[in-house]
Amino acid sequence: MESVLPQTVDKILNNPPLNQSFEEIKNTYPLWLDILASLEQRIKPHNFNMWLRPIKCKSIYDCNITLSAPNRYIKEWFEDNYLPTVLLELQNKTQKNYKVIFEFEETEEIPVQYFDAVTSSNENLEKKTNHEFNTRYDFDSFVVGPSNQLAHAASRAVAELPALKYNPLFIYGGVGLGKTHLICAIGNEILRRQPNSKVIFLCAEHFMNEYIHHLRSNRMDLFRKKYREQCDVLLMDDIQFIAGKVSTQDEFFHTFNSLYDMQRQIVVTSDKYPHEIPELEERLRTRFQWGLIADIQRPELETRVAILTKKAELENIKLTDEVAFYLANNIKSNVRELEGSLIRLAAIASLKSSEINIDLAQNTLKDLISNTSCGLTIDSIQKEVCSYFNIKLTDLKGNKRHRAISRPRQIAMYLSRKLTNSSFPEIGQRFGGKDHSTVISACRKIEDLLEKDLSVKTATDGITRQLK
Ligand code: ADP
Ligand code: MG
Repeated sequence: MESVLPQTVDKILNNPPLNQSFEEIKNTYPLWLDILASLEQRIKPHNFNMWLRPIKCKSIYDCNITLSAPNRYIKEWFEDNYLPTVLLELQNKTQKNYKVIFEFEETEEIPVQYFDAVTSSNENLEKKTNHEFNTRYDFDSFVVGPSNQLAHAASRAVAELPALKYNPLFIYGGVGLGKTHLICAIGNEILRRQPNSKVIFLCAEHFMNEYIHHLRSNRMDLFRKKYREQCDVLLMDDIQFIAGKVSTQDEFFHTFNSLYDMQRQIVVTSDKYPHEIPELEERLRTRFQWGLIADIQRPELETRVAILTKKAELENIKLTDEVAFYLANNIKSNVRELEGSLIRLAAIASLKSSEINIDLAQNTLKDLISNTSCGLTIDSIQKEVCSYFNIKLTDLKGNKRHRAISRPRQIAMYLSRKLTNSSFPEIGQRFGGKDHSTVISACRKIEDLLEKDLSVKTATDGITRQLK
């Protein structure tokens, strides 16, 4: 092992997160630092700084590793690109299979940032770790195919002529299909053309947090000034988040109106079509229809191959057509998983110092493929559980505590964790915004009951069969 820690790791060691006690750091850091040290050898320094440094290790205990990220974008990028390598390293070093639990850092004030014009100085990269946007998500790196053609063309038009073509632009599509990529590409392109324009990019959740914060501190004047007056382009990711949050929706509604009246561009993304977002106010739905609603579907085979080839090129990974087709043929559910499989494969090849060939692909992706190719989603699991127990979806996601509802809810959470790649916080969010600890205890409860209670086992097996 390295006797001298590489420089960056050294820095982290000297600046541990403030909310951890010395005991905790001492116990959990060596292994994590060890992992970081070996990754640092293999990852470009600016990537390391941007995507790995912000990830903190909260605990390593009993084959569970708890990591925390400052925001969702860093978490997703980390999961897509580095997590497979981290898990492999952990396995290599400990001979154990680790499960990752992700947390977000809970900061009261969520920074909402303007896009900076893209520069490559190190200082800026450092600063960007706190920001929400990703300058790598541009139109050049976005592969266009029949599944996303309309959304792409509309995004380009909006980036070229903000507020003139489609306003608002509403992009919707399933998880991991490129919504965040496209909305960031719009922002990056507008800034490339007009470096001084005020582009605000944020996800709806942060809009809500910032709104609450300003409300509490009696500074709504600042909030309104920022969103209603000092904004040329508002890019709001994952708008479905504000469904059911009455006053946030109200605030967004007024923000929307002022921007629209001043002919400012608004782009929103969502995982659903406006009419399918439950508890979204009618007046907002109507406004989303004023402009253009464009969907992104799952990519077809050729597009999946093209995406893999592009990603390989960007990451300097040698990928043959044979392997690209193999992956694309087997992983159909979404682009994030597709990219994840490539990164995982590249990580394994690099650890084994072998090339990426079809044998390696078949061997290493066996688990992944059998888990993901069935394309199960939390939505489909929730529906199946509701129909099995004959209960309402709103109850499943709600807070009722009697057994007839709470047991199916626990089973649905357990299956979501087992059958999709979702994290505990993600699952919590999809069950009406519950805390990740609720999901964790639901999973434990069901794991426990599976051994003791035949009815739980029968239900779980039956639902799983139905799903597959
Ligand atoms: P969503 O926001 O819809 O959940 P993302 O935009 O985060 O999905 O996309 C997930 C990953 O897949 C990202 O790394 C993104 O760059 C990549 N991706 C999605 N669609 C494409 C595409 N058409 N071309 C290239 N990369 C894509
Ligand atoms: Mg997204």
